[in-house]
Amino acid sequence: MSQEIWQLQNNINYLTLPDWEKRGAKVVFTSRHAGASEGIYNSLNMALHVGDKPEAVLKNRKQAMKLMGLDLSHMVCCQQVHGNQVAVVDSSLAGRGSRDHEDALPATDGLVTAVPDLVLATFYADCIPVFLFDPVRKVAALCHSGWKGTMGLIIIQALEVMRRQYNCQPADILVYIGPGIGSCCYEIQADLADKVLSAFPDDNDIIIVKQQGITWDLKETIRRCAINYGIPKNQITVSSWCTSCSTDYFYSYRKEQGKTGRMAALIALVGVKEHEKP
Ligand SMILES: [Zn+2]
Repeated sequence: MSQEIWQLQNNINYLTLPDWEKRGAKVVFTSRHAGASEGIYNSLNMALHVGDKPEAVLKNRKQAMKLMGLDLSHMVCCQQVHGNQVAVVDSSLAGRGSRDHEDALPATDGLVTAVPDLVLATFYADCIPVFLFDPVRKVAALCHSGWKGTMGLIIIQALEVMRRQYNCQPADILVYIGPGIGSCCYEIQADLADKVLSAFPDDNDIIIVKQQGITWDLKETIRRCAINYGIPKNQITVSSWCTSCSTDYFYSYRKEQGKTGRMAALIALVGVKEHEKP
């Protein structure tokens, strides 16, 4: 298991995994501080599609890309739709969606690349970011797993793309299930709980029934999907941060009634040679 730690660079606090970086993948999950956005977006809003001023978002994105040691022309974004489509990203897609949401990869919630110095980017306020890294084949992936993406098994879709495209083996892959809404806060209605239980019949304990209501442990659901796929348990890291409990650090769609900004999840292969297809 890897350790997630806070780092402070250029005035920005972000979560990262130092031992992934040593093995060739830099991970960043931004907090909400030290950006240019105002009001409900206060202040490091990274998303162009939530009504914030584009010039503030671009300023914020440039700051975040500095943490990766790269500029916006290396960033690749998708128009997240809570689906389970996963795209393979090569250098021809560099810069897509970095300055204009319209230009981001359409109807896509997962990105996979073997090209060094391309920064895969997805945006969050409670949904779960899932980072994947194969240090053997040098392949990185990122997927947006909210309730629909989790039900659609987007992590499995991404792992399958990694296997088909680059021959990645489950035994080699590292998984980081990042900050997102926790089972402490993720209340759902009984009809969704029934759907979850029928989708994951062997995992009754991912649904927690209390007097106050029913909650769903999304991160644990995703962790079990990874284990069932064959990822060794000790290669899976689960963030201890609940975005809804910690609006002093993070944006939370639930806690802030939908009127808020987005954090960025970023991953890039660093210090590796251009991948050669097997
Ligand atoms: Zn919570």
